Amino acid sequence: MQPDLSLAATSLMPITNRPDIVFVRGQGSYLFDDTGKRYLDWIQGWAVNCLGHSPRVVVEALTKQAETLINPSPAFYNRPFLELAELLTRNSCFDQVFFANSGAEANEGAIKLARKWGQLHKSGAFEIVTFDHAFHGRTLATMSASGKAGWDALFEPKVPGFPKAVLNDLDSVRRLVGPRTVAVMLEPVQGEAGVIPATVAFMRGLRELCDRNGLLLIVDEVQTGLGRTGPLFAYQQSGIEPDVMTLAKGIGGGVPLSALLSKAACSCFAPGDQGGTYCGNPLTCAAGLAVLRTVLSDGFLAAAQRTGRFLRQRLQDLSGELGLGEVRGSGMLLALELGADIAGAVADRAREAGLLLNAPRPHCLRFMPALNATEDEVDEGMAILRRAIAESPCRR
Ligand SMILES: *Cc1c(COP(=O)(O)O)cnc(C)c1O
Repeated sequence: MQPDLSLAATSLMPITNRPDIVFVRGQGSYLFDDTGKRYLDWIQGWAVNCLGHSPRVVVEALTKQAETLINPSPAFYNRPFLELAELLTRNSCFDQVFFANSGAEANEGAIKLARKWGQLHKSGAFEIVTFDHAFHGRTLATMSASGKAGWDALFEPKVPGFPKAVLNDLDSVRRLVGPRTVAVMLEPVQGEAGVIPATVAFMRGLRELCDRNGLLLIVDEVQTGLGRTGPLFAYQQSGIEPDVMTLAKGIGGGVPLSALLSKAACSCFAPGDQGGTYCGNPLTCAAGLAVLRTVLSDGFLAAAQRTGRFLRQRLQDLSGELGLGEVRGSGMLLALELGADIAGAVADRAREAGLLLNAPRPHCLRFMPALNATEDEVDEGMAILRRAIAESPCRR
């Protein structure tokens, strides 16, 4: 017998409002609930399933690794974590990697690394300039680094040392830099804020500002990494090299895996500074290897970029047709401004019609399909989206 959903759900802490759906299966771009209803999924676990649901390469890697070795402890080497670290450094501007289990945990590591570097090289400087509307995670330090509306008053007192600047306003950063500043940390595209890209000029300006003041530039690519915005990493779009980067979401293809990457010059953790029971375990690193090898395979990113441009064009056409607002973002991380606070209602309607959408702000929708989604799937989703918006009763 199936447990009654509303009764069973009372055993869960109510940390979010969930619709009355229980998903039982996922395949590629689609999810299926326990009544057999099919949904086209443009949330994909919040840009986590970059290869879609249960991709064969990840299933095979997990199965093989689970049968072989799940966890020898982080105090010993294992093959998948050595190979994944090597592949990541070979395909980025970074020299060393620390693996963790979530984006917040990787960002905590980045904050600790910057503070350690400040102790060693900048007389104990510890402040990290972050940005209004930024999202870096839900641990105490990463909440403190975030600039999410409504978070100021939560779980006080916060971790000190995260003054907030305004994205794409170099002067606002310059004003906050002082003797206690050790780093600047940002998302190349603010995802939770509604897909707000840092401009190329701003990224270059930050690099110069950091060089001139001896600061570390940290990019949080938890959402943008692994081809989500077009290139393998979003920092590559601005032609600069950061000192530190964090990855999560896409790198695990659905399983909990994150990474902190650093240039050799600031990779200053010594034994005892950082760790974690599950950090670098072969099971999730084997999944990460399968994901990264697929994303790096011939033509994969080019195809994802083409599909992203196709979706962007379709969103722009729809915006023109229905008199909506701006389309933002690149690759497969896009947002559509609706011109009114109807995003939640549109997402509800779309879900009923079989399309899963995310509304990061009341007036905007975010699109995060699998990177290997097809143009036919885009057409299918756009038809549902068009109806959901056109039929929205509170449209202006
Ligand atoms: C999702 C996200 C995080 C937090 O990652 P978790 O795995 O949920 O801890 C941090 N930074 C950015 C940019 C994110 O999108």
